[in-house]
Amino acid sequence: MLYYNINKPSEKADFRTATLQGLGSDKGLYFPEQIPVFSKDWIGRMEEYADEEIAFSVLRPYVGDSIPEDVLRNIAAETISFDIPLVPVTENIFSLELFHGPTLAFKDVGARFMSRCLGYFMKDNSRPVTVLVATSGDTGGAVANGFFNVEGVRVVILYPSGKVSSVQEMQLTTLGNNITALEVEGSFDDCQTLVKQAFSDRELNKRIFLTSANSINVARWLPQQIYYLLAWKQWKDKSRPPVISVPSGNFGNICAGLLAFHSGLPVKHFIAACNANSVIPDFLTTGEYKSAKAKTTLSNAMDVGNPSNFVRILELFNHQFLPLKEVMSSESISDEATIDTIRATFQNSHYLLDPHGAVGYLALKHFLQIHPGAGIFLETAHPVKFSAVVEPVIGEKIPTPESISGLLYRNKQTVLMQPDYESLKNLLLLSSQ
Ligand SMILES: *Cc1c(COP(=O)(O)O)cnc(C)c1O
Repeated sequence: MLYYNINKPSEKADFRTATLQGLGSDKGLYFPEQIPVFSKDWIGRMEEYADEEIAFSVLRPYVGDSIPEDVLRNIAAETISFDIPLVPVTENIFSLELFHGPTLAFKDVGARFMSRCLGYFMKDNSRPVTVLVATSGDTGGAVANGFFNVEGVRVVILYPSGKVSSVQEMQLTTLGNNITALEVEGSFDDCQTLVKQAFSDRELNKRIFLTSANSINVARWLPQQIYYLLAWKQWKDKSRPPVISVPSGNFGNICAGLLAFHSGLPVKHFIAACNANSVIPDFLTTGEYKSAKAKTTLSNAMDVGNPSNFVRILELFNHQFLPLKEVMSSESISDEATIDTIRATFQNSHYLLDPHGAVGYLALKHFLQIHPGAGIFLETAHPVKFSAVVEPVIGEKIPTPESISGLLYRNKQTVLMQPDYESLKNLLLLSSQ
């Protein structure tokens, strides 16, 4: 399988190169040249297959010759070595819980898959690779955890001091070893600017092998298809495929779902559930794409003004507006409605939503009011990660899951720095020796 650069289709790369490079020239995203087709028989017998087998089968054609079969089988199994249960919330609404991974957010799947692929690619390389990322919260933890102790890979994470939640900070800063956390005395934008400067610094890139674990990397994007297949495996009424609502920010997750749909996965309809950042809901209403500055909301992992993966969705639909609109709708949900939904769902259904899941739940509920049927929303984070929002709403403390309680006793290890590029460069050169 080859991938082409959306901005320059003549530029092609195999899975290995696309993963190592992250982006093509002119910052273009990679897109698969062919979309594999799932056989009807395979889809019909999904319940008979183990989760690992499903994960392997989906990823195999995308990885191609870049990784041998036995290695890929192991990687696929490790990628989803935790439960992804489909849990009923009401009679016709189900939650696909994606938060049972090590950092309690769905980004674990992509980060685990990418880290293991990179580990394989770097195995015989004398030159270690440095993964450089800026995070506003969730990505950093998932990347740190996914790459922890992967040989030949060191990870440098920049995060804005005092601006991530305490759980998120612990997940970034307590691992040590090949993970370095840089606590930047500035904003998330400062962190991102520093990272971009590093990637465009030719001299630095000659001296160290830098790559990004950004969500647009094909190795983080493609494994997300697994969620949708596991949802189908657990879906009881196979004669009536579900509507699937996806809390969306950068649109990587929903784009993976749409990719699986194009391969033949039965889905009645997709809903891109957004917070106040309404670029895509507005686009689907007006046909006009207007990017905007990101607004801060309670579901902060979706505070994205210009979703990078949307161009992949357009590519998937050959830039045809009407066919896209038939398959996907999108709604913007306010913070007030998010809070009301968390409260009402806790009271009426005894189910605790996090703010992102709440956005997905409400958009699905609205859709089903007009189009009767049944559906699934993706619950993308454990509510404890957003306890400051959720606990006051329900008037109760959320019990601490084991994976977090262990972190409380570890030491925070960070390097404090000013948002200054020369400091970052020196640190990167030092840490690569
Ligand atoms: C990243 C994230 C999202 C948004 O996913 P995209 O693929 O960027 O659309 C939603 N919820 C949570 C909890 C996240 O961390």
